[in-house]
Amino acid sequence: MNQRRCEECNSPLKGRSDKRFCGDYCRNTYHNRKHQKRNRVRYATHQKLQRNRQILKEILGSKARRVIGREQLIQLGFDFGFLTEILRLTRGQNYYYIYDVGYRLLEANRLLIVHKDKRPLAISS
Ligand SMILES: [Zn+2]
Repeated sequence: MNQRRCEECNSPLKGRSDKRFCGDYCRNTYHNRKHQKRNRVRYATHQKLQRNRQILKEILGSKARRVIGREQLIQLGFDFGFLTEILRLTRGQNYYYIYDVGYRLLEANRLLIVHKDKRPLAISS
């Protein structure tokens, strides 16, 4: 029969057969490290969203809406892979939001940047 070992420090385990760690220290260390990995992914996503939001807000300035070229937006560092909400309208006119700002695709690789409508949409707080 194989000797079971601690998943953190690899020392031999004694006692219950469902034991995974030799003690509290190893269990905590193991789980803290797993959390760190998860948190790094969350933080990276958070940063991408914040950056996207900041870029759109700076483009808008005090204006309610503005048109900008897709290439220009990418050059500013905008990442189309990160958004918080899609509002699907008729005729495929979707709005893509990053929190309180968003965009709609126009013809000729241009986008209309907008503030999110303050009216509540469906179920939102
Ligand atoms: Zn251990």
